[in-house]
Amino acid sequence: MPDEPTQPPSSQHETLIGAIRRYLATHPAAADTVEGIAGWAVGAVASVTADEVRTALTHMEARGEVAKRHELGGAEVFARTDALADVPVGTLRIGIDLGGSKTEIIALDSDGRQRLRRREPTPREDYDAILALVATLVADAESECGVAPGTASVGIGTPGSVSRATGLLRGSNSVCLNGMPVKRDLEARLHRTIAIANDANCFVLSEATDGAARDASVVFGVILGTGVGGGVVVNGRVIEGRNGIGGEWGHNPLPWPTDDERPGAPCFCGQHGCIETWLSGPGLARDHQASFPGDAAPAHEIVVRAGQGDAACEATLARYEERLARALAHVINIVDPDVVVLGGGLSNVERWYHSVPRLWSRWVFSDRVDTRLVRHAHGDSSGVRGAAWLPSG
Ligand SMILES: [Zn+2]
Repeated sequence: MPDEPTQPPSSQHETLIGAIRRYLATHPAAADTVEGIAGWAVGAVASVTADEVRTALTHMEARGEVAKRHELGGAEVFARTDALADVPVGTLRIGIDLGGSKTEIIALDSDGRQRLRRREPTPREDYDAILALVATLVADAESECGVAPGTASVGIGTPGSVSRATGLLRGSNSVCLNGMPVKRDLEARLHRTIAIANDANCFVLSEATDGAARDASVVFGVILGTGVGGGVVVNGRVIEGRNGIGGEWGHNPLPWPTDDERPGAPCFCGQHGCIETWLSGPGLARDHQASFPGDAAPAHEIVVRAGQGDAACEATLARYEERLARALAHVINIVDPDVVVLGGGLSNVERWYHSVPRLWSRWVFSDRVDTRLVRHAHGDSSGVRGAAWLPSG
């Protein structure tokens, strides 16, 4: 390529549009003032003025990518027309993590600042009581945050998924929710359209929106905990998938198995050797005990003992990180994400972030691997924050 002393204006214009597109895809509110976008763009594109940003936004508006709104005080705000843009700027965003043992609520400003967070025990196997609890938590949150009843957006994260065919929830560990029209019943109680998504998808959305993967377009997120879940977010949107199982990864088989890894332990799903049976906390503990009979330590204790120089526990972690590298390499070969973000109890092992990217290149079908592996930024509030970021309805 010959040297170009100056970029032609049209090229700079398209570069700026690309940068704005990335910014609005990852900015928590998916919207900002012209001045806000210009202030950010100066860091992303050399020497850009507010007028150039306004021109680029006008072009994007003509293409239907953004829409202009007038804020209080006359400021012009441009928002993406898809993804989060269906929630007006300034709306209180409520997220609820509806788990088997506890129900958590968070309320966020449109820029992601936490206004309120509360946790209550989930009523045990009582469907009507669970609906009533959610309704009470939402009403209280709106009242305490000083917004009119019924005006907050509400997103729910929960284990399992809503069947596209029937609208009924399935696969939840709160068994009384399975087979029920949870979304429809909650919408009737809350007098508004709500969003509902798998809790692992909410985790990934949270980290992709304003967490550890906020600058990335394509994010694969993994929860390594009691179970193993996954999710894919592209340009700020969860890939739900045709069957509602997008990103489900824990019940694929461990790839490139060795002879002594076959067929693997039985899994509750009916298969053998699922990734979850290797990479969950109980899976790590079982693998350790299989190699060192009589040592029935739980996963967190194995991690601590490995750090203290226990050779048996160290060997177990070495097997675990090699399997994690294989399992993630398989995903990189299909999705090729910019970032892989880890959550759950086993994501807090510092060594994975150095060892796994060194190991996975052996199986990734590329001469070099630039994928980043990062730890969650929002800890155990990621799931409930992600529920708040779900596009309403
Ligand atoms: Zn399984």
